[in-house]
Amino acid sequence: MIWLFLLPFLLSSCKADDREMLTKAEPIVRKSNNKEYLLKEPVIRPSPNYPWTKKGPSKYTKITKEHFRCKGSFTNPVRTVVQKSGSLERYFDCGGMDRHSLYLKEGQEFIYPVLINLLNYVQEVSEHKVIVTSGYRCPDHSIYVEPSNRSSKHMVGAAVTFYVQDYEIQKVVNLIQKYYVQDKKLCHFERYTKEDTDCSIQPWMNKEIYFKVYKENEGRNCDNSHPFSYISLQVRHDMSCDKKVVYSWEEAFRSYLRK
Ligand SMILES: [Zn+2]
Repeated sequence: MIWLFLLPFLLSSCKADDREMLTKAEPIVRKSNNKEYLLKEPVIRPSPNYPWTKKGPSKYTKITKEHFRCKGSFTNPVRTVVQKSGSLERYFDCGGMDRHSLYLKEGQEFIYPVLINLLNYVQEVSEHKVIVTSGYRCPDHSIYVEPSNRSSKHMVGAAVTFYVQDYEIQKVVNLIQKYYVQDKKLCHFERYTKEDTDCSIQPWMNKEIYFKVYKENEGRNCDNSHPFSYISLQVRHDMSCDKKVVYSWEEAFRSYLRK
């Protein structure tokens, strides 16, 4: 009777031995020019142009609203500033683009189009990359960057600071003016002569914009801690609705979405 129980085990061990005996290893040999499938040589074609591209694909990414997102970060240390009265004020940075939207106008994220258009023009004509160092600043980040400036137009999407990689700053100034050369209303630039500026070169302005140049040793802040000369550009007048662009504290605080 016990043989009946042992029989399956004996049979299975015999089968395993048989398999090992029958197995015969053979190497797979293939020549280097053996091909299972014939492949056509790939044809390299340039990518098609977008409908709005006239001269062909740009070397650099187009400037969009995305380049203007707030540069704040919780990893920035707390800033301590001594006030005129001698007291100490502490400033905390915001969480940046992950924590809030851009400035909102009529429920949409908004940056004045002239800023985006001008920067794209400079990048396209100069054929050098434009680096946006500070676009929209939420109120927390704006005060963190410049505690003395409580009315920065960065808070309402009407200001930007930028530099152009490996390109003379004077040439950038020329290009900004050239952008308006065919516009009779805006082609005339005046120099700003008041002494309340924080840069040594007199700023320029027409009806629509105001811009100034910071040399390598001027205007450094946490958004502009790089070693290059840069340009600060502001919108003075909204030409689309013929209104002066003014900063409003209430609007700056209410018009962005916290996440
Ligand atoms: Zn922010």
